[in-house]
Amino acid sequence: MRWALIGASTIARQYMIGAIRAEHGEISHVLSASAERARAFAAEHHISASATDLDTLLADPEIDAVYISTTNEKHLLQALAALHAGKHVLCEKPLALAVDHAVAMVRAAKKAGLVFATNHHLRCSGSHRAVRELIMSGRIGKVLSLRLHHAVFLPPHLQGWRISSPESGGGVIPDITVHDADVARFLLGEDPVSVVAQMTSSGLGNGVEDSAMSVWTMPSGAMVMSHESFTHPFAGSGLEVHGTQGSIFARDVMTQNPIGSVELVTGSGRQTIAFEQHDLYREGVRRFQAAVAGEGEPAATGLDGVKSLAVALAVRDAAERGVRIAVNYGDMH
Ligand code: NDP
Repeated sequence: MRWALIGASTIARQYMIGAIRAEHGEISHVLSASAERARAFAAEHHISASATDLDTLLADPEIDAVYISTTNEKHLLQALAALHAGKHVLCEKPLALAVDHAVAMVRAAKKAGLVFATNHHLRCSGSHRAVRELIMSGRIGKVLSLRLHHAVFLPPHLQGWRISSPESGGGVIPDITVHDADVARFLLGEDPVSVVAQMTSSGLGNGVEDSAMSVWTMPSGAMVMSHESFTHPFAGSGLEVHGTQGSIFARDVMTQNPIGSVELVTGSGRQTIAFEQHDLYREGVRRFQAAVAGEGEPAATGLDGVKSLAVALAVRDAAERGVRIAVNYGDMH
């Protein structure tokens, strides 16, 4: 499959170029707003062509799919243009800055008969899949609660638009709460109904929140507690799922790499759970390319991206207004 990268980004550099190539995808173009950055990025990663004009790039009939990893406010128009040009789209989270915009992207893909996926990598990880399997097979009984710990320290090289630019979709909620929303939906197989939340700026955020805590109500009655931050150097990450018959402790699993541990605790004692340790992003690309070939769905669909955004925006709304907010998933009909 022939890919173009829309965005000369860190995530493309660190993970996605390798993931696409490992799955035998060819990357033919990279697009940047700056000709100089595009050229340098192309040279650094052995990409044959660089571009600054999206329409010209999309007019190339040899390009099958695009991977969009620009700043968040650009995803909408770039995805719509790519879909209009007949390209399959793997788009970074958050899909957009508003739920209606994300819905429009999914609708455009459906209308064009193209694959449109969200790059929620965590549901591709062996650890999360092992936790889901434990839950779905009834090993912990009825799920009572899920606690998500995703308070990390934002590395200095990423301390740009994420901590200072609301226009670009900065803030920990669009950055990390969206991932946690997708994790909760993936693990529990249900969508949050309403949320209460608090957020703050605790050292890094300048005009946007850098920390958030929220509690979500699930249709089953399970409660979800979610904590995201850019300012916690030593907190570690993880999740816990507690049920009537057991608890699952997954440590260091809210990461980009196949690391961490999963432990099941029941009346029979403690048990370490083995899981596959494959590359998360490569697995996402594999599923995307398979979907383009007509085999199954991407790991996270466009609709998954709409829903994770809807939960994240409800969290911010709840924190801003100090009230419980019903999650508005938009009109997908
Ligand atoms: P970056 O800040 O690295 O890149 C975003 C944009 O910033 C690029 O498209 C680029 O614009 C511009 N840019 C990059 N370097 C420079 C520079 N030196 N000077 C000026 N502008 C620059 O962001 P990330 O890679 O961290 O994130 C990109 C997207 O990916 C976001 O939507 C984010 O939410 C998502 N993401 C997803 C992850 C996941 O695991 N799914 C993990 C990390 C990020 P241009 O393209 O015009 O050159």
